[in-house]
Amino acid sequence: MIEMSIILHYKDIIPFINIFLFRLTCFENAIMESEELDKDLFKNWVRGSKGLEYLQEGLQEFVGEKVLQCRDNTLQKILSALPSGSPQQCNQCTENNLSPEHFNSTKACNRRTCRQKTSNNCFGSRPVGRRKCPDGICSKFYDAIIDEHAFEDPLWKNTDPSTWCSDPHGWSYAKCFQTTKDPGTSAQDTDAAGLLSIIINNKSIQNFVTRINPHTRSSFHTARDIRNKILHSSKLEIDETTVCSYLDAFIVVLQDPKCLINEEASKKAVHKLTQLKNNTIHISQGDTVSLLENRNKALTELDERTAKSLRKLDEKALVVQKEVKNVALAAKRTVSMKKRVAISKINTAEKQAKQKIDDDIFEIEKSVKMAKNSIVREKGSASSAVHTKGLQSREMKGK
Ligand SMILES: [Zn+2]
Ligand SMILES: [Zn+2]
Repeated sequence: MIEMSIILHYKDIIPFINIFLFRLTCFENAIMESEELDKDLFKNWVRGSKGLEYLQEGLQEFVGEKVLQCRDNTLQKILSALPSGSPQQCNQCTENNLSPEHFNSTKACNRRTCRQKTSNNCFGSRPVGRRKCPDGICSKFYDAIIDEHAFEDPLWKNTDPSTWCSDPHGWSYAKCFQTTKDPGTSAQDTDAAGLLSIIINNKSIQNFVTRINPHTRSSFHTARDIRNKILHSSKLEIDETTVCSYLDAFIVVLQDPKCLINEEASKKAVHKLTQLKNNTIHISQGDTVSLLENRNKALTELDERTAKSLRKLDEKALVVQKEVKNVALAAKRTVSMKKRVAISKINTAEKQAKQKIDDDIFEIEKSVKMAKNSIVREKGSASSAVHTKGLQSREMKGK
């Protein structure tokens, strides 16, 4: 009887075991599917990163060529204005000794006097130990770079002025138009964001692409934003629709109708980007590793951007401090003016009071004098009356 009940019990639980096993299988499948999905999302991130490499390949020749052309034009303009026989290049000026052409030697650059938008970043804001270029080139070159910058705000900490004239790739000049510090020494070893920034910020290079309005977003801005979204993302995952839209945005840049569309390198890159979009290109394990390394390098920019934001906040704080100081000075001036008016009122009141006291004293003295006179008069008439009375009584006694 006992055995029977155990067998029955075992039979009873078989359906539950089956349900459990079925659910376990479903759960395992779900995990595998989710892992597959994760793998797909990561693969899409790899496709997006690879797309950035193709964008860089498509841009590097064009940007490299235009940078050299613009640097040479700028230098030529400066040299042609110098007296004949002047040196044709200079290598004596550095970030520590060069003063800009616009710099007033008696006063450090500030917001009113500086040609650069962020005057704190101008060499002229730290004037100690600086002098104009002895060859008459670099100071003028400095100002020309500010003028060529779309926002009149070049990045000086990324450049070496001693090679502005001689850099064979013109890259020390190009670096002034980037937005973050970059170790690259030519277009070949500068990433897509660096190349896009040079196009966005250099007014002369902008002549070779569809007009970029500094106040609206161009296809170049969009591509640069996408590059940051891919490389600065905390999760290395992108869904299919998004990665395709990213790759399309890169293709739009490389097919810019003014020049890029006709460049051989751009055409090749567009072909590769289309393959990447259609998932018909193989990305090796080695590729994936180097793409992850690129991403790690890109993350270091974030610190620099934070520092830049902090510097901007500092500048705003300085402006506010200055304004507060001006308001305080104006208030002080108003207070001292009110003080002066109050003092003058007190003086007048004092004078008037003094005058009144003097008048009163005069009136009192006058009254006293009159009273005195009246007493004397009365005393006189009284004694005269006494005298008359005395005489009268003597006369009466005599009678
Ligand atoms: Zn300045
Ligand atoms: Zn110089």
